[in-house]
Amino acid sequence: MPVPDSGVPAALGYAEETKIPFDFGIIRNHYVGRTFIQPTDAGRQTGVKMKHNANSQTIKGRRVILVDDSIVRGTTSIKIVNMIRLAGATEVHMRIASPPTTHPCFYGVDTPDRDKLIAANMDTQAIAEHIGVDSLAFISLDGLYRALGETHRHADTPQYCDACFTGEYPIAPGRSDGRSNKGILTK
Ligand code: SF4
Repeated sequence: MPVPDSGVPAALGYAEETKIPFDFGIIRNHYVGRTFIQPTDAGRQTGVKMKHNANSQTIKGRRVILVDDSIVRGTTSIKIVNMIRLAGATEVHMRIASPPTTHPCFYGVDTPDRDKLIAANMDTQAIAEHIGVDSLAFISLDGLYRALGETHRHADTPQYCDACFTGEYPIAPGRSDGRSNKGILTK
């Protein structure tokens, strides 16, 4: 089951590859804005509650694998997993179509500083326990490159920006935006 809408393409591919049936168990309200760019935690949590609803008809009594594109703070994942359990799932697993997001983006995507990025502060097992899933796995960095048609990531000259997964920023971020540069590497 995808976390809509961001998880849909990856969930379709995951279902096709594993031969596990694809289903929509979560309905998304398209009139609510993106959750992780809400300015406050209270706003984000209200946003998550209003944005997604579970369809217990497709969830009750089933082992569910949720597929999403990323985990940023973990706020959305906690709510979604709880919602799926309340809808009657017997197990809830999660698979993520990006490597762990360990660094902020300085190039236009509004991600938070490192202290708010869950994967910068916890390993995969700790994140799984924190968000309440039976198992959690992220695509590997090379796996992501293979999905893009490359054989692997070129370590010295990466083919794409992947700084939010590696901390290797192709262009050094400045400090004029007021955000911390702590822990940032540039090539
Ligand atoms: S890949 Fe680069 S540009 Fe894209 S979100 Fe991550 S840091 Fe930002």
